[in-house]
Amino acid sequence: MNNPLLQEFSSQFETAPFSKIKAAHFEPAIKTSIQQAREEIELIVSNTAIPTFENTLEALEFSGQQLDRITSIFFNLNSAETNTAIQEIARKIAPILSDFNNDIILNEKLFQKIKYVFDHRVQWNLTPEQETLLTKKYKNFYRNGANLNQKDKAILRKIDTQLADLKLNFSKNVLKETQNFELHITDTKELEGLPEGAIEAAKQEAVQKQKEGWVFTLDYPSYHAIMTYSKHRYLREKMARAYGKRGFQNNAYNNEKIILSITKLRNQRAQLLGYKSHADFVLEERMAETPKKVFQFLDDLLEKSLPFAQKEFQILKEFAQKEGVADLQIWDGTYFTEKLKKSKFELDDEALKPYFKLENVVQGAFDIAQKLYGLSFVKNREIDTYHSDVTAYEVYDANQKFMAVFYTDFFPRSGKRNGAWMTSYKNQWIKDGKNSRPHISIVCNFTKPTRTKPSLLSFREVTTLFHEFGHALHGMLANTTYPSLSGTNVYWDFVELPSQLMENWAYEKEALALFATHYQTGDLIPQKYIDKIKESSNFMEGMATLRQLSFGFLDMAWHAKSTLAVSSVKAYEKKAFQKTQLYPDIEENCMSTAFSHIFPGGYSAGYYSYKWAEVLDADAFEYFKEKGIFNKEIAGKFQKNVLSQGGTEKPMTLYKRFRGKEPQVDALLKRAGLIH
Ligand SMILES: [Zn+2]
Repeated sequence: MNNPLLQEFSSQFETAPFSKIKAAHFEPAIKTSIQQAREEIELIVSNTAIPTFENTLEALEFSGQQLDRITSIFFNLNSAETNTAIQEIARKIAPILSDFNNDIILNEKLFQKIKYVFDHRVQWNLTPEQETLLTKKYKNFYRNGANLNQKDKAILRKIDTQLADLKLNFSKNVLKETQNFELHITDTKELEGLPEGAIEAAKQEAVQKQKEGWVFTLDYPSYHAIMTYSKHRYLREKMARAYGKRGFQNNAYNNEKIILSITKLRNQRAQLLGYKSHADFVLEERMAETPKKVFQFLDDLLEKSLPFAQKEFQILKEFAQKEGVADLQIWDGTYFTEKLKKSKFELDDEALKPYFKLENVVQGAFDIAQKLYGLSFVKNREIDTYHSDVTAYEVYDANQKFMAVFYTDFFPRSGKRNGAWMTSYKNQWIKDGKNSRPHISIVCNFTKPTRTKPSLLSFREVTTLFHEFGHALHGMLANTTYPSLSGTNVYWDFVELPSQLMENWAYEKEALALFATHYQTGDLIPQKYIDKIKESSNFMEGMATLRQLSFGFLDMAWHAKSTLAVSSVKAYEKKAFQKTQLYPDIEENCMSTAFSHIFPGGYSAGYYSYKWAEVLDADAFEYFKEKGIFNKEIAGKFQKNVLSQGGTEKPMTLYKRFRGKEPQVDALLKRAGLIH
């Protein structure tokens, strides 16, 4: 078979020949490329010369490039334009790819060569980027037990298997507990306050379950609708108690023992590898670096935001009192916050939308990138795409040097998953003196235009577009030697800096003036709307901050110390929450037993990073605000030290080079209106 995936991409810029690729091409192409990658690695391993950075690390880094190219295309399509054939192939190749990756990580001979180079690293005269690559590859083996003796290796594998099982059971239990509850409503009076969309969804849920009336569930959209809008307090209470009980009931789906086992095994695993705790193990590869630093960060933010959270809580209590609720409970919080917000800012999404025509917003993002980084975007209809909704651009810098191919894919369709994301079809790297430029894409799900009406975005969607565009800049402006350190390949408490930073421009008058014009009248968005957008985005920010901090503290309580002596999950959690508690505790509820982010999910010892990223972007944007939001010098510094550098050095080093100092929490508090 003449397989386009296995041939050189001969198009201009070597973009993927989407229209020639059929689903049937993927499996044989991936298998052939795995074989090729295995041969490339075998060449490194069987080389009898003394291991060097070039013949081992660099050779490994540039092995399997064809496989990377093909799997990037495949997995991107599986997210943005999938079908049953693609999904079937995904199921088939997942174990093949994981076997291939395991074979590399367990390759003893390969590790010994890398270790040799690592142990002799002082003598190689490596650049900082090379040193980072060496450390990263070495640690990747080390953190998976390559340095252990046979006995400990066997223990590690056993722990990994146990952990995988426990995590799976944790998720299954949460899912079962979520499914086992429903709020069945047959009296229309009980729907009071709920938005049309939520009622309609509940109706469909009832039809599906062959019931009369409406069924609300503990799935997030349904649960959230009741908690935010239901006028009936007893319904909110019922939902909240059921939600908080998940994994904490006396039944087969209880997660308490599982939590104690997971945390014990994670700690044991970390200690086997030479770390003090699981958090120490995780944070080694984070900007925050140590549990101590995370605790300092959380404590600092707590100290500064607690007085504001308490004040807001008082305001909320008084507001609720006027509405007839004397003892504010956890199930009243979201409801009264929303109500108070509405009474303060009559900000209608629909009134804003005409100012945010999709094409204008995209052009606005391009104009900002032009002002900051000198970039220009040229539409190119010749570039092959996977769907007619996809637009491709050539991207050039101020000297007309080609920087990247940029794809945008904005509208929902079957075969595309929900949400918004940035991805790449090809990384950037420098090899044999040639700078090979990246192919970057952003994918969203905005309202499609009709024959009579263009696509008009809500303000939230505008910030989403800016967010993904910020990630895209990180990819497009990449300028590193090694592909695995390029663009967004950075520590994950650093990766949201370029994206969240970009969102800031959407709130600025000077930036809005570039694109926020009414699609019919051409009028610029009124100042009063801009003010309201800003104010409402900060509404009750103290309480929201406290809530995020409480989750961060709980996560660290489970992962930064030994839990061997813990007997009661609830009592331990209560203690972790003590400093951040505003509402009375509900004895029959427990957060930990359904905290999927940190137990089965990848956020263990990482929940803090949500706030961490906000601190970073606020601190970085403050620098722009001081010098002017379109200041080319600051933008240049950001490009030179952050956007172009990917993961070539430690993020704190890169950040300090840009900012001149470590990030401070004050900028975030100022932006949130908590300090002046
Ligand atoms: Zn993001």
